[in-house]
Amino acid sequence: MNKPLNSYDAVLLDLDGTVLRGAQPVAEVPDVISELRRAGQVLQFITNNAARAPEEVAEQLTAIGIRTAPEEVLTSAQAAAALLTSLLPADSAVLVVGTAALAAAVRSVGLRPVDTASEQPVAVVQDHSPKTGWAQLSEACLAIRGGAKWVACNIDRTLPTERGLLPGNGAMVAALQAATDREPKVAGKPARPLLDTAMGRMGAQHPLVVGDRLDTDIAGARAAGLDALLVLSGVSDAVATLAAPREQRPTYLGADLRVLRGPLDETRIQPRPGWRVEFDQATGDLLLSSDGSSKDPLDAVRTLCAAWWGECSGPVQVRACDDTSAKALEAVGLA
Ligand SMILES: [Mg+2]
Repeated sequence: MNKPLNSYDAVLLDLDGTVLRGAQPVAEVPDVISELRRAGQVLQFITNNAARAPEEVAEQLTAIGIRTAPEEVLTSAQAAAALLTSLLPADSAVLVVGTAALAAAVRSVGLRPVDTASEQPVAVVQDHSPKTGWAQLSEACLAIRGGAKWVACNIDRTLPTERGLLPGNGAMVAALQAATDREPKVAGKPARPLLDTAMGRMGAQHPLVVGDRLDTDIAGARAAGLDALLVLSGVSDAVATLAAPREQRPTYLGADLRVLRGPLDETRIQPRPGWRVEFDQATGDLLLSSDGSSKDPLDAVRTLCAAWWGECSGPVQVRACDDTSAKALEAVGLA
């Protein structure tokens, strides 16, 4: 690996959709991570998923060939716990709506997890747990209505599963918003605490954020003034990227983490050699043409994004002017 990332002092990697697809690594990711480490790159895995402790995540990554120490993993539960310590005196009672891993994160920063409103919690911390039901939400509702501070680990509205999208923590947060007329402070992406905690921990000033979601990973990086690489191995696709609002636009675009093997500048969203984009004045469509020298469909997408983002935002129709362009659009789902 030819030190492609040496202008960045750290790499903050999202997990689901970026490093992992379900329980398995995305193609060749264990090798790419090893190569990055051998090149001296400092890494941290950061995840909105607060349901598992860093030790469990590190164990899982190590088992699939990505040797990881718990200190290299930061979950939104840890970021939420760090946020709570900035708001509360030591040993404060905190009502935990979520998993045992969240309760452990709260305990590890010197706060006291409790289960009921009658234990006088001064804060509520909330993350997804499949066991959360009306009874747990009722305790949280009473505590928040009684004046307790409220921190959500993340506000991901949905949870991708094999069966489809299920209610995520954001959906349960919305139930409490409706019942309390209050808004939580948020720890996970796109809010800042998770990124700030990761940077503070590593002493990083200028990290590269890498993730698969425009509305969390990329929006979080942009809000924090950081450069971001979007990989298309998870949730967001080329269509969503081209239509992305200003605050969700990545600096770089790649199919998956294998792009980190090459010079990062070649993945920058800018006009790329071999591709040309024009506006069709009559229809407002984008017209893509190729001189045949590039076969990389993502270079076509980078060129399209650079043209479209410079002028407009939102969804746009793209038309191919030749066979190479038609094949490229087909390959990335933009046909
Ligand atoms: Mg992800």
